[in-house]
Amino acid sequence: MAPSGLEDLFGNEVSDGPNVEEGDLLRAMVIAGHPDDSDVGAGGITAKLAAAGWEVRIVVATDGSKGSSEENVNQEELISKRIIEQNNASKQLGAKDVRFLNFVDGELEYNRTLIEKITKEIRIFKPYAVYTHDPEAIIINNSFVSHSDHRATGLATVDSVYPTARDRLNFPDHLEEGLETHKVRELFLWGTNQSNLEIDISNFFEKKIDALKEHKSQFDFTEEMQNRFLERWKNEEGKYTEKFRRIVFHR
Ligand SMILES: [Zn+2]
Repeated sequence: MAPSGLEDLFGNEVSDGPNVEEGDLLRAMVIAGHPDDSDVGAGGITAKLAAAGWEVRIVVATDGSKGSSEENVNQEELISKRIIEQNNASKQLGAKDVRFLNFVDGELEYNRTLIEKITKEIRIFKPYAVYTHDPEAIIINNSFVSHSDHRATGLATVDSVYPTARDRLNFPDHLEEGLETHKVRELFLWGTNQSNLEIDISNFFEKKIDALKEHKSQFDFTEEMQNRFLERWKNEEGKYTEKFRRIVFHR
């Protein structure tokens, strides 16, 4: 059953939710291409889960070293700044911690190395749910291009969830290091053209804004910008929401 009140979090479509007696942990992992992506894509649900007693770990694939349009930017300084910004943003949301995989921004490749790193993160943390970019969307809503780092992160994460984190013959070194295989139960994809779930974040949108404001190197967070975000998050009923494509795996 769902001791966490997951039905309450996700609405009536939820089949069961974590089963603590069967060993499920109230843990979610948000895996993002760049510092700030997890907050834009899943900041509301991160805050909502944390408030419900879940542990949420953020994993950032790249170092964010190309996130500047300034001339003569010092990329080492930018990397350090963005680590601090992401840590501060995650604190605003109540996330447990942030892990950085430190791949070069803008050059992320979908390959075995990336899958291995993400698989290892999943096997270490054992999340019930994983949130990431939808790798199938190249163009989102006929309005945005999904950054190639987002697509690589999303695809490597999907492949890590199924099958590599689950199967013991993938990356057997992990098992020799003492890690175990892990089955993720639910996958949530943002930046998607195929959303099937709208999560009400009306009680958490302020925390999401506070998190976004921490990314000072990325946003000059004016009131106008805040209003644009709020407009984007608002549904027809006037509720603030985050939309996901949700996949539930069978036990
Ligand atoms: Zn990004």
